[in-house]
Parts: sequence; C-alpha cells; structure tokens
Amino acid sequence: MKLYDSLRRELRPFRPQDPPRVTVYGCGPTVYDYAHVGNFRTFLVYDLLHRHLKRRGHHVEFVVNFTDVDDKTIEGAAQAGTSLHDHTAPFVGAFLEDVESLGIAPFSQHPRATAFVPQMVTFIERLVAAGHAYAVPDGSVYYSVPSFAAYGCLAGPRTDGEASRSRVDGEGAPGKRDPRDFALWKAAHPADRRVGAVWESPWGDGRPGWHLECSVMGTTLLGNTIDIHLGGEDLLFPHHDNEIAQSEGATDRPFVRFWLHVKHLKVEGRKMSKSLGNFHTVRELLDQGHEPAALRWVLLSAHYRNELNFTRAGLEEAAAAVQRLLDFRRRVTDLPATGPGSGLAAHAREGAADFGRAMDDDLNVPSAVAVLWTLVRQVNTALDQAPEEASPADRDGVLQALAEIDQTLGVLELALASREVEPDAEDRIRRMVEERNRARAARDFATADRLRDELAALGVRLDDTPTGTRWSRVRAPE
Ligand code: AMP
Ligand code: ZN
Repeated sequence: MKLYDSLRRELRPFRPQDPPRVTVYGCGPTVYDYAHVGNFRTFLVYDLLHRHLKRRGHHVEFVVNFTDVDDKTIEGAAQAGTSLHDHTAPFVGAFLEDVESLGIAPFSQHPRATAFVPQMVTFIERLVAAGHAYAVPDGSVYYSVPSFAAYGCLAGPRTDGEASRSRVDGEGAPGKRDPRDFALWKAAHPADRRVGAVWESPWGDGRPGWHLECSVMGTTLLGNTIDIHLGGEDLLFPHHDNEIAQSEGATDRPFVRFWLHVKHLKVEGRKMSKSLGNFHTVRELLDQGHEPAALRWVLLSAHYRNELNFTRAGLEEAAAAVQRLLDFRRRVTDLPATGPGSGLAAHAREGAADFGRAMDDDLNVPSAVAVLWTLVRQVNTALDQAPEEASPADRDGVLQALAEIDQTLGVLELALASREVEPDAEDRIRRMVEERNRARAARDFATADRLRDELAALGVRLDDTPTGTRWSRVRAPE
C-alpha cells in the first residue's frame, strides 16, 4: 500500500512500525455545533482508510478525538448561557449519530480533551523542563518556537507574514518571547470561569491550548510514534506543525510516520459558509429525504487530495449509482444459476482484486469505483446474452466480490440497512411478482396492473425485461 505523506511530500510504501498493529490518529470534531458535510468528507476518508487497512489484515487502532474545550466551545457555551459540558455533550451525541447514519465503521476510541487535562499538565511540565516552554506572568505557558529547529516543516517556511500574523496566539501578551510562540496553557479568563472551563495547574487556574490536546491524546493512547495522522488541509499549519513541535519536543521521538491531509469540500463551487447559505449538516440532508447511502457515495467519490464539489445534481447522480448497484445485486441474487458456468466467478475475483489494488494506491476511490462499474457491466452483458449459462459458482462468486468491495466502500450495506425488507415481506413480494407474471402470461392485464400498483405501494419498482421481470425496492412501504 502506498500513501502520500504530506510531510515528505511524496507517495511512499506504507508499512506499520509494529505489524500487524497500525496506529492512526484523526483530528476529530470541535463539538460546538453539528458537524457539516465538509467535516464528513474528511471523516469518510478516515473511514475508508480504516476499512481498507482492516481488509488488508492490519489490527487498526484508530483514535478520533473530540475537541470539547477551545475558544469556539467556550464561546458557544457562553452564548447559550450554559456550561461547557452541557453545551458540548449534545454535539458529541449528534456526531456519533451522524457517524452511524453514514455507515462509518466505529473507531477504536473517541477521547475527549477535557478528560486528559492532568496528562496535558504533565506534558507541559516536560516541555518546560526540556527548555521548549516557558511561563509568563499571567500564568499562561507558551511553546518556544525558536527552541525547535524543525518548526514549520509541514507547512514549509512561512514567508507570508499576513498568514502567520493572523494566527498568532496571545499577541502582545506580556512575557511572550517570539510572536510565533503559541499557548500550551491559557490562564483563566472570567469568561472561562463562567462556563466551567477551568482546571488547576502549577501555573495557576487555566485551560489547555487546542494544539496541545491532540499531541497528548495521540501519544498517551497510541504511543510516542504514530503510524498515520490525518486531518483536513486547514490543519496543516499551524495545528499539525504545532503538534509535531510539542510531541517531538517532549518525547524526542518522531511523532508521526505518515501525514495525510484531505482537501476541503466545496459546495456548489464555493467555500462552504453559513453566510453563503450553502452550509449543510448531515442530519438536514437526511431530513430532506436524501438517502444516507447516496450522501456517503457522493462524499467519498473523489480522491481525497482532489477537489470535490458537492452539488444537488451530484447527490442525485449518487442516488442513481446506489440504485444501480442495488439492482445489480438483486439481479445476481435472483439468478436461477442452473447453468454450466460462464466464467463470471473469475471476472468477479479479478474485479475485487483490482478494486483492492486501486485502494492500495493512496486510496484511489475514482479508479476503484471505475473497476466496480466495469465488473457490473461485464456481468450484466454476460447475463443479457446468456443468462442460462450462469452456474451457482458464478452467482456466488459475483456476490462474494461485491461483498468484499463493499467492506471498503460501505455503500451497499448502508443502502440495504436503510431499506431493510423483512424476510416475510420479501417472500410476499416474490409471490406477488410471480402471480403478476402468470397474469401477464394469461393476458389478464387487469390483475397484472392491480398487482403492479400494490407492489408500488410497498415501495417496489418492476422492470419487465426480455429475460423476465426484475424488481427492486426504491423506498420504504407507504
Ligand atoms: P473541526 O470540527 O472544525 O475541528 O473540523 C473537524 C475536521 O473536519 C478537521 O479534520 C477539519 O480539517 C475538517 N474540515 C473542516 N472543514 C472542512 C471542509 N470544508 N472540507 C473537508 N474537511 C473539513
Ligand atoms: Zn488535532
């Protein structure tokens, strides 16, 4: 497997440091609001990587944190007139619901920053002792950027004074030594106290800095050197450069072996923002009746380092793609498969292997999905031409390949779960379809039409083809 490492800026073969264990850390949601579809583009890349590593036999430990204390969560709690904990708890729950709605496989752990404050204090003490951090008179502690020679290696040297100035921490704070130094510990403000975002420390009451949180949760739960660290492209600088400076400053070990960054999602061609009215949450789109599997499909359809433009039209195309896959699966499942064999099982095995190879190539979803459609086309053509030749091994081979591919893609399982048909209902549908076929053969069109209407009310669509009637479920029963 090859992954593009944004630190070394190259595709490199990935091998875990301690096989079969693979440790992965993904920066998680800041729980001051519902996560939006842009966040979920990134989280779906986490899911694809997670699923693909597991499919390749690795034992994956995948940590995705909750940022439940930072400027935004404190401000959110203050505006809502509640405590930090009461403000963030519902958004933690909402995130986990959205994860489930989109068929994201459960991650190993979801640490909350607020549960790691004692470890953060210890970590800062180590940095102070090593000469990488210093306290200032108000009781804040800063990381000393000049003390870490490799600082800024992810982003490259920053020459754009504007960008670095706009992100400086505690500008003009008395005692701060370098404008680039950033806060590890922030002395308590009255606003922090009002929402209960205050902890004790050797430097006085305060709260941790956001960058520090990930370094501490990552190294505490996964060890000093993590195999793979992910996040959206906005986190490259300063967040991830600060994580490197803190972690390597404290442990003297390389922090991360592979850095992966996901390009930001655009919506209708523009940067997503509440003021442009193009800001969507997962729950809003699902409430509007969009299918979870279609949303999943559209968000994972581009390569993670390429642009992805989320549009209504794209969502409709994704729904059609999901339907096409479901119809294909149904067609193969319903094959009589009484023939001598037509080589489909071999095609299917090759298809699944090619799909896996495309995913090995830096999670190349577009080329993996192209492999899937080639397989669907090959099988459909063979079945159009000589449906009677397919053997049980052909049918099972194709279904097996689809299932294997979907272990990574996770689209079929989600579509099937959201349209789940009770086994009894499935039998009843089959009987009605057969009865309608008999009525049509007897030219009793009144009965055939009545049955078509009854099936439509059950959410079943019929397609009469030269080789028989195919049925598929297009929605839940009325
Ligand atoms: P946040 O909740 O802002 O801390 O972000 C959670 C994750 O979503 C981080 O990995 C961000 O980099 C990522 N992210 C934020 N906005 C977008 C976007 N528009 N497209 C893709 N990923 C994003
Ligand atoms: Zn982070």
